This record gives sequence, structure tokens and C-alpha cells, in this order.
Amino acid sequence: MRAFSFFTDKDEPRIGIEIQDGCYDFTTIWEFFKDFKGFRHAPSLNFLQVMVEMEYFALDTFTEVVQTVRDFRPLEDVRIRKPVRFDVPISRPQKILCLGRNYRAHAEEWGSQVPDEPIVFAKLSSSLLPHEGIVRIPDGVGRVDHEIELAVVIGKKASRIAANAAMEAVAGYTIVNDVTARDLQLSDMKKRHPWTLSKGFDTFCPLGPYLVPAAAVVDPHNLKMELQVNSESRQRANTRDMVVPIPEIIAFISRHITLLPGDIICTGTPEGTLPIQSGDLIEATIDGLGVLRNRVAAA
Ligand code: MG
Repeated sequence: MRAFSFFTDKDEPRIGIEIQDGCYDFTTIWEFFKDFKGFRHAPSLNFLQVMVEMEYFALDTFTEVVQTVRDFRPLEDVRIRKPVRFDVPISRPQKILCLGRNYRAHAEEWGSQVPDEPIVFAKLSSSLLPHEGIVRIPDGVGRVDHEIELAVVIGKKASRIAANAAMEAVAGYTIVNDVTARDLQLSDMKKRHPWTLSKGFDTFCPLGPYLVPAAAVVDPHNLKMELQVNSESRQRANTRDMVVPIPEIIAFISRHITLLPGDIICTGTPEGTLPIQSGDLIEATIDGLGVLRNRVAAA
């Protein structure tokens, strides 16, 4: 089961779900469920982020709501006919935190070692871009690279959480492309400047298309990932090659920073990061999480 945020023909935001027999408008199914249960004061659910912040985003919730409604009315009239215009699954995260050099071969391809403890940096929520949105390369910025990564979306407040309890704080998983202005990043590193600009341009954080509940992902540390540019394979790896695994990432970050529902953690990219240019079509695939597709153009 996979959930997504999308816009109707009339530009109305909605939550969609993909289950065995197709895609459905979950926002409307939820309204039926509220009527059936007499939950008159329950809020409408138009954004996945709202569900996550209410700590209501879970496989069991979707299953229960859909099954309850299906038992008393057919769902044919709320079936979604693709294609739909996707929104980012989480549109206004309080934080997007990223791991640097969390795959050994990627660190080595840039002449670096895997660090002793995680390198954590931030991307800006203004750089988020939905599935099918266009990555815009600013004039004169030099080389810009793709970076496919598994993104973890936090579902519960976590402060000083132990690694063995950290997975309980995960709402779900999606795909992120940590687009990076590489020339600028390298020159900023030489000057001992932070990476904020080179990682933070508008459209440099494609995210989606789906948010998959944690309970629907059997093992987030065994997912094949592949990024293609114009159908040519550029990055191919498995999340099992992550140096610091997800529970330790969450434990480490939460020692210093309180994680909140809706926060996004980008878990690092494997080797094969290469330049993109205007006209390219980027397709980032992770097992079970779908394909995040974005075209590249000049700004
Ligand atoms: Mg990265």
C-alpha cells in the first residue's frame, strides 16, 4: 500500500492511495468513514503531512478506514484515473536533515573516507519538488549532480531516543534526489563554508512520488535503488550498504535535535553521482517505493 498527495483537475489537494486493485481518493473515503462513525468533528484529510503530524499515518489506519467504508458502499466512484498531478508527500517539513558520505564507495569516489561519526547537514523546504516537477539549473552554477537516497519520514516526536527504539519514530519511506551544485559545494568546502547554498537551490530536492507506511516496508535496509538519466543507469546500489543504519542515524540526530512528525531524513547517496544538464530525464527507483521522475531545464 502506498499513499500520495495529488491535485484534482480543479486544483484541490487530496490524499490518494494505491492498493491491490487500483488507486483511490482517500480524502473522500475518509469523509465517508467520518459519517459512518459519527466523527463529525474530525478534521478533513487533504495532505499527507497533516496525517503524519496527527500521528495518524499508518498502514493499519488506511486498512481499517478503507475496509470499513468498502463494507457499506462500493468505491468505484472514488477510483482515481491516472495520470494525476502529484504534490510532494510532505510539503512543509520543519526540517530536512541529510547524511553526508554514508555509503563507502561514494565517499571514496570523492577521495574521502567514511567519517567517524555521521555528517549531518540540512536542505531547505523551499527546495522541495514533486514527482514530474522540473529541476531548474541556475545560470553559471557549473556542475550539478544527482544523488538518489532513501528518505525517512518521522512520525513521532523523538528526543534522545535509543537506537533500539528509534524505528518506532518512523512513519514511512520515500525517495529523495539530493541534487547538488557540485562545483559550488567543492569551492565552499575549500573556503570552509557550509553546504547550504549548493544543496539548497529551489527545485534541488525532488521528493516522492509515494509515502509508504513503515509497516508496509519489510526491510528498509535491503532495498535495491537505481538512478537512471535518459534511461542510462548511473547509480545502482542497495540500502544495505549504508554505513550508519537508520536506527543509529535517528539516535544520533535526536541526541542534539528534537525530531518532529513530518521531518525528513535523507540517508545518503551511493556511488555514481554524475552531472545532469538541461533536457535530461532523471528516474530514481527504490524497491517498493516507486519511480521519482524529474526533467531538468535551465532556470
Ligand atoms: Mg546526499
